[in-house]
Amino acid sequence: MAAGELHRCMVCGRPFHEGQGIIIRRGELLLEFHSAKCAAKFLRLLMERPEASCVEGPIKQISKELRDSLEKRRQGSSKVIA
Ligand SMILES: [Zn+2]
Repeated sequence: MAAGELHRCMVCGRPFHEGQGIIIRRGELLLEFHSAKCAAKFLRLLMERPEASCVEGPIKQISKELRDSLEKRRQGSSKVIA
């Protein structure tokens, strides 16, 4: 069995195998987190930066989309109950 690629958590430095942690690739960017907790820490650090204002637009959009889909799901399930 071939050993999976070994990654290293960029927050705490813990090594982990592909499929165990969270890996986000986008162009030249590679984000590696061994756990959701470390990913959350990274997200918090990102949001504390003044430069993060450029992602406010997409974040608001994603928040709205998620809210809308939650709302739709809630309406759907309430119809089943009623
Ligand atoms: Zn970590």
